[in-house]
Amino acid sequence: MPIRYFNSYSRQLEDFVPLEEGRVRLYTCGPTVYNFAHIGNFRAYIFEDLLQRHLEFRSFKVHRVMNLTDVDDKTIRGCRAAGIPLAVFTKPFKEAFFEDLKTLRIKPADQYPEATAADHIARMISMISTLEEKGHAYRADDGSVYFRIRSFPAYGRLAHIVLDELQAGVRVRSDEYEKENVGDFALWKAWDEADGDVGWESPWGRGRPGWHIECSAMATGILGPQLDIHCGGEDNIFPHHEAEIAQSECVTGLRFSKYWMHCKHLQVEGTKMAKSAGNFFTLRDLMDKGWSGREVRLALLSVKYREPLNFTMDGLAAARSALARLDEWSARLTETAGSAPPEPVSFPEMDAFGSALDDDLNISAALAAVFELIRETNRLLDGGNLAPGQAKSLADWLTGVHSVLALEPEAASLPAEVQALLGLRAQARASKDWKASDSIRDQIATLGWMVKDTKDGQKAIRL
Ligand code: AMP
Ligand code: ZN
Repeated sequence: MPIRYFNSYSRQLEDFVPLEEGRVRLYTCGPTVYNFAHIGNFRAYIFEDLLQRHLEFRSFKVHRVMNLTDVDDKTIRGCRAAGIPLAVFTKPFKEAFFEDLKTLRIKPADQYPEATAADHIARMISMISTLEEKGHAYRADDGSVYFRIRSFPAYGRLAHIVLDELQAGVRVRSDEYEKENVGDFALWKAWDEADGDVGWESPWGRGRPGWHIECSAMATGILGPQLDIHCGGEDNIFPHHEAEIAQSECVTGLRFSKYWMHCKHLQVEGTKMAKSAGNFFTLRDLMDKGWSGREVRLALLSVKYREPLNFTMDGLAAARSALARLDEWSARLTETAGSAPPEPVSFPEMDAFGSALDDDLNISAALAAVFELIRETNRLLDGGNLAPGQAKSLADWLTGVHSVLALEPEAASLPAEVQALLGLRAQARASKDWKASDSIRDQIATLGWMVKDTKDGQKAIRL
């Protein structure tokens, strides 16, 4: 069965066929580094990580680029409010972002271009000049340069906007706006006082790029005029991606991206995540509450990207117990396999995992296949009906699954505190004090470790 993804551009499921056989050029809009990324942002990045890992699982070579938006309306507002230079303001947020990616086991992109890098700014200026020469851009009275949306007949196709006469000649300067306010958008913003010391010289005087041209320039500058897949969260569809298409295609004359994929937004406990509602989480907030990166990863991963994800504490708890199940199974397989060489095994769930992902990244079906296989084989293990070589094959299969899901147990060494509690628990068990033993086990769990009693004694597994 071919791989099929939902293309937001055609609003249809399409067979995935890259422009060049075996290679995928993937561009994913990265964070605007004006604060710590929230878990909604990470839903988008985890969906993109699953996409990349799935393509690699199916033997494609993926070249992935994720940009960092380190100059736009929001970052400028932030650095002005803090009274510090833009680069000083964005630096800690960039660092935090990379730490969070690691915590969530998101595979690093091949490149993380930053919008303020001199070569990218130069490319933005050159693209805007080309647009001006070709009649797609004009300079307005305020000194800024705007894209003339009327000059690109396909404008509005991605977001399904039909332009009417009223919208001709309307201009929007801000980076973000609603569909109702659609109009010519800013490519280059003439410097004004609110920009402080942020600005670059250009043929149109001192100013700065609009957010949209940044991505067009970084994507085409690094990956070439045509991409295979361009991703983001659903809020990126308009105006950001609509503008990216218009700018890039008017410069190159080629179709910018063959496929567009967008994930639905994340909600928290059934409502929109907002600072004012007190349900706004960064990854750090969750870590402070005792959840691990792996648990947050699974909670954000477990719902298909095109379905809304309602993030709840119950969801995190469910992720914790699912991981415990997975780890227990893995430990059991390793123990049963010993040093046996692999022997053929065939369970329909083994293929079902990959086919579910081939079907537009249907992660819930893929996870269901894994847990069904666990249930079935645990029964065989209970009855001593799984040969060591078969257990070895299943363990190898699980390694392949983890190359896509990245949910393998932490290879962390045991903290001294857990070690000490394990000692106390061993003593309690030796004196048959089951109550104390259970309570120590719960205490260990609060530190993020699960205790398993095996025939070789206690084993602690990172939750
Ligand atoms: P930003 O830093 O706002 O530019 O967003 C970075 C990425 O996160 C973009 O791809 C957004 O579409 C995505 N994003 C923002 N909020 C959410 C959310 N609540 N759920 C899922 N993705 C989001
Ligand atoms: Zn972008």
